[in-house]
Amino acid sequence: MKRIYLDYAATTPVHPDVLRAMLPYFTRAFGNPSSIHACAQEAKKAVVAARRSVAALIGADEAEIVFTSGGTESDNYALQGVCLANEDKGNHIIITAIEHHAVLETCQHLEKRGYSVTYLPVDRYGMVDPDDVKKAIKKNTILISVMHANNEIGTIQPLVAIGRITRGAGIYFHTDAVQTVGHIPVDVNKLGVDLLSMSAHKLCGPKGVGALYIRKGARIAPFVHGGGQEGGRRAGTENVPGMVGFGKAAEIARWELKEEAGRLTALRDSFIKELRERIDDVHLNGHPVQRLPNNINISISFIEGEAMLLTLDLKGICASTGSACTSGNLEPSHVLMAAGCSHEQARGSLRFTLGKWTEEADLKKVLDVLPPIVKKLRAMSPLTKK
Ligand code: PLP
Repeated sequence: MKRIYLDYAATTPVHPDVLRAMLPYFTRAFGNPSSIHACAQEAKKAVVAARRSVAALIGADEAEIVFTSGGTESDNYALQGVCLANEDKGNHIIITAIEHHAVLETCQHLEKRGYSVTYLPVDRYGMVDPDDVKKAIKKNTILISVMHANNEIGTIQPLVAIGRITRGAGIYFHTDAVQTVGHIPVDVNKLGVDLLSMSAHKLCGPKGVGALYIRKGARIAPFVHGGGQEGGRRAGTENVPGMVGFGKAAEIARWELKEEAGRLTALRDSFIKELRERIDDVHLNGHPVQRLPNNINISISFIEGEAMLLTLDLKGICASTGSACTSGNLEPSHVLMAAGCSHEQARGSLRFTLGKWTEEADLKKVLDVLPPIVKKLRAMSPLTKK
């Protein structure tokens, strides 16, 4: 059975060119970039080139890129690093209610250490209102963090408008751009952000490597202490193959981004249209237009997303749901709940995320397979109106 992978927001396969670029740094040029000999110097050169490539993808200077272990570390570093370095300025942070857990949990940790956090609401499309950001600012606000696009529902936030507000107020502005870098145009200067989190495995790079963009002059405390790697900001012997892979993935994304975004948007929109024609009571979660080209998040009334997911899996289709099955309870997604979905709607959510190797035929297969699954599950569901 051919497996159809539609979970690119969770992770992506490594691009063959990325893997090829990484291999020499496991073998021939395995040296520690801090060493003096030729084997190390080759590795060091590759790290420099990778940093340049990642910087180019987001319109940054290479000196503003700090490699990390991924999106989670980048978010932790941005939030905790800014708080620690700016304790004299204040202890208030503003984020949205729909941030990734890497931001939410970090804020909860900071709250325990005396920081206060404002969680901004979103509208029914999962969009934050820049006016709400403005109103939430206090004298002691030091940092505002708003994700660029949401990983569950794909809504793209109005960062340019928020950036104007943060700049005017002299407050640091961080964005978690893990789902947008390499997928839609990202330019740190156009967005007006001071810090931006990225992760390689979301753009056909390897897992375990990411980066934090830190605008020149931003006050941020080092997060990992030890050797002087990454300009003294993030200690530890460099993950050279990972960085090289990230650099190659960024280079490929830069060439292909525009065309790929157009291709995926067309696939996405025709899938949503067809699905609505084939299944009754389907609700599109997230913004109809301001959304990631590869994101389809729907709620299908009267049934659980988990049940659909497991049945699709048996048919070789890999998708995702907003619910997390914890200790036998289906916890509805905090994102869908914040966007005003009912428990039932949130539990009936299903996410398909497309990517580089998604073809029209894959989506056609889902369109054929899903309606009978829905029919069968609805017939068994106590929620269905009989
Ligand atoms: N932020 C967002 C929006 C994400 O989607 C993810 C991963 O799913 C992360 C952060 C965490 O990234 P990583 O898996 O590289 O730690």
